[in-house]
Amino acid sequence: MAQRLYAATTSHGKLRDFRTAALAHSLVIQPLPGLRSIPAPQENGATFAANATLKAVYYSPFAPGELVMADDSGLEVDALDGAPGVRSARFAADAGLVDSPDANDNTDVWNNLILLQRLAGVPLARRTARYHCVLVVAQDGVPLQSADGSVEGLILESPRGTGGFGYDPLFYLPELNLTMAELDLETKLSLSHRGRALAALLRLLGL
Ligand code: IMP
Repeated sequence: MAQRLYAATTSHGKLRDFRTAALAHSLVIQPLPGLRSIPAPQENGATFAANATLKAVYYSPFAPGELVMADDSGLEVDALDGAPGVRSARFAADAGLVDSPDANDNTDVWNNLILLQRLAGVPLARRTARYHCVLVVAQDGVPLQSADGSVEGLILESPRGTGGFGYDPLFYLPELNLTMAELDLETKLSLSHRGRALAALLRLLGL
């Protein structure tokens, strides 16, 4: 029987990514039951690993005996000294552009806008960036395994493509001459930070 892994995320984009990546494995990824009614913990870690760990440890007791996976991910832009980093979801909110991140509002649009503003005047060759993802699996409040993945790219001066989410329309892969938002889901996952982190995690778990 396929191993079940609960994902502690309410992000449709991430869940879709994880489920697609898991199709090739003997694994079923489902959202953690009742997640929306569980108060979210403060994601105040200084690193992706710290945030992913605190979420996996916090959420796993809500599904006793089960494997619960939490992630943290974001964009690191070299010309911005690694920003927005762990603040990727709240880049525009931190700049005072929007009140708070909300999956149903225009947070992504505002985040992309502030990114373009911060990079104004920086030539393409110096707009190097990477997506980074850390995944942690915990059981009953104890972290068991962690894995990470990243993908390198450049931040364009204007958006291209309608797929993906977050910063994808600005995240350009020079070797493909496409943005992340122009890739089909399978291709995106074969090279994305999240796909690579999940593949590494599944290797560690022997799945
Ligand atoms: P998290 O929910 O704290 O992991 O925040 C991740 C944030 O980083 C998202 O809200 C996006 O802004 C950005 N991000 C992470 N992964 C991706 C991706 O695959 N595409 C686009 N943006 C991403």
